[in-house]
Amino acid sequence: MKRPIVCISLLTFFSNISLFPVFICSCSDDDTDKLPDTGEGGMSYMKKEKLKLELSSMQYYVTQEHGTERAFSGEFLKVNSDGTFTCVVCGNEIFRTSEKFESNSGWPAFWDEAREGSVTLRPDTSYQMVRTEVICSKCGAHLGHLFDDGPKPTGKRYCINSAAMNFKSKKKEDLKSEL
Ligand SMILES: [Zn+2]
Repeated sequence: MKRPIVCISLLTFFSNISLFPVFICSCSDDDTDKLPDTGEGGMSYMKKEKLKLELSSMQYYVTQEHGTERAFSGEFLKVNSDGTFTCVVCGNEIFRTSEKFESNSGWPAFWDEAREGSVTLRPDTSYQMVRTEVICSKCGAHLGHLFDDGPKPTGKRYCINSAAMNFKSKKKEDLKSEL
């Protein structure tokens, strides 16, 4: 005798709750807008997509995926005229030709950074090697690696990918100021 009563009660319950989905949906929309993690994740994705459009595939591969360009393939390997090398992502001044030297390694090499704090160093244990990674202090872009076999006075060799840099010639700046 109890079963019919239970069934009727359930029917009554479901007929009333049929109005609820609209209310539930509107609540969940409001809650989603308030989730900070969703917003931050979206920004990071957008930033990456923007960089993919702004940089060449090699520039993106080197600076964002810790890649290395092929030896002797970089456009700044033989550049020695006065000027400053800047981070290709954010424009931070990272190296100068006054500290550039020929290392015969196949990549541009510097014995010092443009100024103290231009670049940041951090341990890199990828590829079963213990190396020191060089990244841009301003935006964190991967630039290359640091070795201790450079010339005096520092004995350092910053081995940097051309694809991670732009070059600002001092001569061009001088010409502009004279005009
Ligand atoms: Zn940078």
